[in-house]
Amino acid sequence: MNDVTKRVWATHDFKVKMLDWSGSRGSRLAYTCRLCGRKFCLFTISNQGAWAVDGEGRALQSAVSDRWLAESCPRQTGTSDDEDRKLLSRPPAH
Ligand SMILES: [Zn+2]
Repeated sequence: MNDVTKRVWATHDFKVKMLDWSGSRGSRLAYTCRLCGRKFCLFTISNQGAWAVDGEGRALQSAVSDRWLAESCPRQTGTSDDEDRKLLSRPPAH
């Protein structure tokens, strides 16, 4: 995480949940903000950094991810976030 992301990260009030584990990337953690409801995922031993996900943990498009990671916590759930959450980075697998 770079310094900007770290500062943004600190503005959220996250609850953290471990989703799963992989030998190469470590634990996959889900960070859900109690204030704005935004949700991010992060691998503990990968330097990939965090990315934004929807309510079910599916990755959002990098444009959304980049924006969320650049914005301070809005302190409330925003209606535009619901639109952002429809922009999945790839279609759900069937
Ligand atoms: Zn937040």
